Parts: sequence; structure tokens; C-alpha cells
Amino acid sequence: MEISHSFFRRRRSNGGAGTRLGTEVAKDYSRERRQRMKKFDQNRKDLNGLKHISTSKDWKLLYFEHGRPGLEEEVRKFKGLCSYCELNEICSLPKPVTGVWRCKYYKATSSKKTSLYENVIKQLEMAEDIVHFDRDICKILADTMNELVVHFPVKMDDGNVKVLTGYRVQHNNALGPFKGGLRFHPLVDIDEIRALATLMTWKTAITNIPFGGAKGGIQLDPAEFSPKELEKITRRFTYSLGNNIGPEYDIPAPDVNTNPQIMAWILDTYMSTVAPTERNRCIHVVTGKPVESGGSQGRNKATGQGIVFLIEKWAKDHGFNLKGATFMVQGYGNVGSWAARLLKRHGAKLIAVEDVSGAIYRKESIDPDDLADYVKEHNGLVQGYPRAQSIDHERFMTTKVDIFIPAALENQITSETAELLNVKLIAEGANGPTTPEGDKVLLSRGIDVIPDILCNSGGVIVSYFEWLQNKRSEFWDVREVDQKLHKMIVSAYERVRDAARRHKVDMRTAAQIVAVSRLEMVYKERGIFP
Ligand code: NAD
Repeated sequence: MEISHSFFRRRRSNGGAGTRLGTEVAKDYSRERRQRMKKFDQNRKDLNGLKHISTSKDWKLLYFEHGRPGLEEEVRKFKGLCSYCELNEICSLPKPVTGVWRCKYYKATSSKKTSLYENVIKQLEMAEDIVHFDRDICKILADTMNELVVHFPVKMDDGNVKVLTGYRVQHNNALGPFKGGLRFHPLVDIDEIRALATLMTWKTAITNIPFGGAKGGIQLDPAEFSPKELEKITRRFTYSLGNNIGPEYDIPAPDVNTNPQIMAWILDTYMSTVAPTERNRCIHVVTGKPVESGGSQGRNKATGQGIVFLIEKWAKDHGFNLKGATFMVQGYGNVGSWAARLLKRHGAKLIAVEDVSGAIYRKESIDPDDLADYVKEHNGLVQGYPRAQSIDHERFMTTKVDIFIPAALENQITSETAELLNVKLIAEGANGPTTPEGDKVLLSRGIDVIPDILCNSGGVIVSYFEWLQNKRSEFWDVREVDQKLHKMIVSAYERVRDAARRHKVDMRTAAQIVAVSRLEMVYKERGIFP
């Protein structure tokens, strides 16, 4: 088996592991860690999961091992040690985060944002190790085609001018026009958009739709702007993108913190900048529009609907009864709330929900529709929902349920949090919610995963339907949309499941294999210009 190729490694690293600096730090850390671990091993005694290390004059030191739900309350009574690096340092933080105490050292290293793009490339490498794809084609796919960064001024309500930064990354268009969402979030950066654009290429390839992959975003916190300001920002960003988007070239759609209204503003701005004779020929420049403005029936719920179709399929394959099954959702926006509401129709019970404002829990079940109504009236947040108790992140992650639907942001299931989870299936609504290290833990713990590039592809599938309807001046009813979505997403699932069996790999690696195999075939057939 060939070790990973250098072309995967050469990209824009920001000082993380793999760079010279990163490697030296890692070496020092390993040496120090070995010495300290030796001391640590001499001291510790097992105490029902709480590992008693030593008792000094001032501290009763306890070590909390991951993945032992129910012990948090007991552990919280004591000052703890960092269970990540085992440096035997007393944590400087006031309370445990995600079930572990973190020492000063951990804080320092974790202040760097995990590179989602590096994770995406690692997944490509893993598939490449199994199937040995054509090296040249992997070289092409390991890079993005076009990257646009725009800085644009917008006049705020108070008369001041703010300069914002927006991105559009086009990863690949071998299979058709670039396609991918637009995200408004303060943590948006080029690394994240590159990664998400790449994931879009895999997604469209797996589902056999004639699109490539792209993604865009603006680095901002929408909560800091008035609706009027958000409209101006959206319109000015669209104007800045100019001909880099277009109905037959690159087609945006909603993603985190963007919605049909924002798509309508993009459409209107784009239409206003083309010749009057062209205006009605470019309605498919965005998908996920309001139905009245040319959107498709069923698009708003499409990603959640696709997730539920796949959970149903997984349940059928595993002889698992969804009636009475329990689940929890992270993120109660478009994807999370629709997935929850549609899963309820199969008799499954929502037990816990987490969003950016906190987490809630109810043993007997939370009504997803009632929660959706509450969230709509409370700035999109679950906090304060009166018919459930509030819990912390750690408690949320350790909740015992059958199915977990992460539907918020990336890098949520790490090697640490994967140890905490007490679930049978993870249906990934979010893009990139699991790190490669988290994946290893899930695999070793026998937790099934329906990977993001397959699981949340319902959105792009129905976007494709919207694009087709716009081009043909057709309107399909929601039943027709759902039937077509079901057929497409379930056959994608079957392709991935069969590849997993054939290559004896997990579903994520199999999904990657299916995607790259399709792209490889197309590149081989067409050759490389000139
Ligand atoms: P959204 O803006 O409607 O909702 C995002 C949700 O995540 C909100 O409830 C928010 O409170 C929550 N959240 C944000 N940060 C969080 C944190 N740190 N911890 C817990 N919760 C947090 O976005 P969406 O459209 O539902 O997208 C959610 C995920 O699904 C994203 O990863 C997105 O890329 C992916 N996705 C969306 C679509 C789509 O059609 N909208 C399609 C495919 C994939």
C-alpha cells in the first residue's frame, strides 16, 4: 500500500501538524508526554472509571476517563487533571468542557482552528489507499479550480461604512456547472470554504447529478446586522461576484444562516445586472428560492427529508424499528428541525437538542413541531424552551439515544466527543461534522455512520430539480419532488453500501470511493486539454 502522496501534503498549511514547527512541537510533546505518562502510570489506581491518581495537600486529583456517562456529576465535585494530554497539570478552566479537563498545554494547542480542508484531503487519501486511483486525477481533485476573495463596502444603518470579506470557491466542474451553498458565519474563511466546495464535488458525483462542486460565504455574524443591512450585504456581495456565478456556470443555494429570502435578493440583484432580454432566462442562477420566486416545492425541507429517507433505509437494512426509537439533534435550523419533524412521523422520539444557545433534554420526548414553532418565535434559538430541561454540552453529548443527527457545524465529533456518544447511528446532516480521528473512534466503537456527502445530499438533489423546473418552465408538486428525491438518494445509498461491502471499508470511505471513481472515469474518457 502506497503511503500518502506528497501532492496532498503541500497545501496551504497554517502551522499545524505536518509543518516544521508543528513537527518539532509534536516531538517535544511526545517526549514530555512519555515521561509524564510513566509517572502517571505509577500513581494511578482504577476506581470504577474514576482513576484516582494522587492526593496532595491541596488537591484531590482525579482523572475522568472519556465515555463513562453518568460520572460527570461525581467528577465535577473535584478539581481535575487534563485527560487529553495527561500532563498532570491542574486545569485552569473553571469547569470541564466536553467531559474532559483541559490543561494549559491543551488550551494552547487547541486555539488553532482545525483545518477542515486537511480533513477532507485525508479522507481522499484514505480512499486512494484502498482503490489506487490515477495519481494525476487525484492531483486535480486535491486542489480547487478557482478561488475568489472579495472585500466589499456596505453602508450600515447608522451611516458608517463596513468592509466585509466574502468567498466563492469553485472546486470542480467536470460533471456540470459549479453548485454549492452560501454561508454567513463569523468563522467563515478560505480553508472552510475550500473544504466545503470539495465536499460538494463528492456529493454531486455520488448522487449522479450533473453538477460540480462550489461553496461561498461571508465572514459575518448575522445577529449583528439589521435585516436591511443584511439585504445590502447580500446584494453587494452578489454584485462583487459578478459573472463568477451564473445559471449555467455556478449556482449558489442556502446554507448556514442563509435562507430563501437571501436567495431571492441574490436572484433580484443578478437579474438587475443583465440585459433586459436575458432577465427571465436566469431565474435558475440560485436554488432554494421562495416558491413564489421560482423555488421548488419541497426544497426547504429537502435536506432533512433526504436524511430521514436514509435513516429509514438504514433501519430497513438493519432490521431496526424506528417506531419508539430515540434520537437527538445538534443544530435546530433548516436541516436539524426538518429532520426531527419528519422523523417524528415514523414514531421516533426526540430526546435532546443542542444549538448555539445551549442544549435541552426531556426523557419522555420533545415535540419537534412545537419546538420548531418556539424557535421561530425566539430568534431561531432553543434556549428557554419551557417543555424541556436545560442541560450542558457534556450532558448532551453523553445522552443515550439510538440516532444522533449532527446538523450544525463541522468538527463536532472529535476523538474526544466520539468517546462520549452513546448512540447506534450517526446520520450526518452537517458538512464535515466528524474529524478523521473521531471517525476512527466511532469505527472502533461500532457506531454506524451515514456520511455527510451522502446523508445531506437531499438539498442539492432538490436544488437540481429546482434548476430543471426553472429551465423547463415546469412546476412539480411536492409528492413528485419527494418521490424523485427518494429514488435518487436511496440509489446513491445503495451504491455506497455496495462499495463498502465490496472493498470491506466503512461507509465514509466507500462514499469517497464512489465519488472519485465517477470523476476518474469522466477524466479518463475526456482526457486533459490540450
Ligand atoms: P441553519 O443556519 O439553518 O442552522 C444552523 C444551526 O446550527 C442553528 O440551529 C444554530 O444555532 C446551530 N449551531 C451553530 N453553531 C453551533 C454550535 N457551535 N453548536 C451547536 N449548534 C450550533 O443552517 P442549516 O442550513 O440547517 O445547515 C446546517 C448544516 O447542514 C451545515 O453544516 C450545512 O453546511 C449543512 N447542510 C445544509 C444544507 C441546506 O440545504 N441548508 C444542505 C446540506 C448540508
